[in-house]
Amino acid sequence: MDDRQFRNAMGKFATGVTVIATETDGQVHGMTANAFMSVSLDPKLIVISVKEDAKMLHKIKESNHFSVNVLSCEQQEESMIFAGQKQPEEEFQFDYLEGVPVVRNALVQLSCEIYNEHVEGDHTLFVGRVTEMELKDGDPLIFNCGKYRELKEMESVSN
Ligand code: FAD
Repeated sequence: MDDRQFRNAMGKFATGVTVIATETDGQVHGMTANAFMSVSLDPKLIVISVKEDAKMLHKIKESNHFSVNVLSCEQQEESMIFAGQKQPEEEFQFDYLEGVPVVRNALVQLSCEIYNEHVEGDHTLFVGRVTEMELKDGDPLIFNCGKYRELKEMESVSN
């Protein structure tokens, strides 16, 4: 079982795409992430997974807060910018929710504070307690097998 094969296997699991954002010393830092999951309703908890060499790791630890922004199908560019795949043409403007930077026009904006963290292998899992959220209508951006995709409705199945 080599690394490439493991990545290919994990990439077959289709996900949405988020941008994680945090602020330290007045500087906002964003990072594209699809390792995101809802954890608990009471209290409202989510989890994200950040690799050990990501700049984001220490920034989240320092600020104790981060946002998770679920991207819409019109935000592939934002995903590419915060994955280091594309340079923004102009300075990227963030909005704020409960004092935490959030991505404008994301389908969901969650502001979170660190509730717990676990180092697991070469990633750190941050469990975040959701302190506020905003929702919008629209379709999500999808990531599968290393490619961005859009949702397509399938014929409904009647039993
Ligand atoms: P950098 O690589 O320095 O920053 C990321 C990019 O964002 C840079 O190009 C930087 O210029 C830009 N940027 C940051 N802040 C700003 C700002 N304020 N204004 C303008 N541009 C800014 N990695 C994980 O650890 N976990 C995951 O779950 C994960 N999921 C991914 C899902 C997808 C679909 C993709 C494409 C990548 C994913 N990655 C994930 C990889 C991760 O997004 C990249 O490795 C990323 O470059 C790591 O960011 P960094 O914090 O090290 O900082």
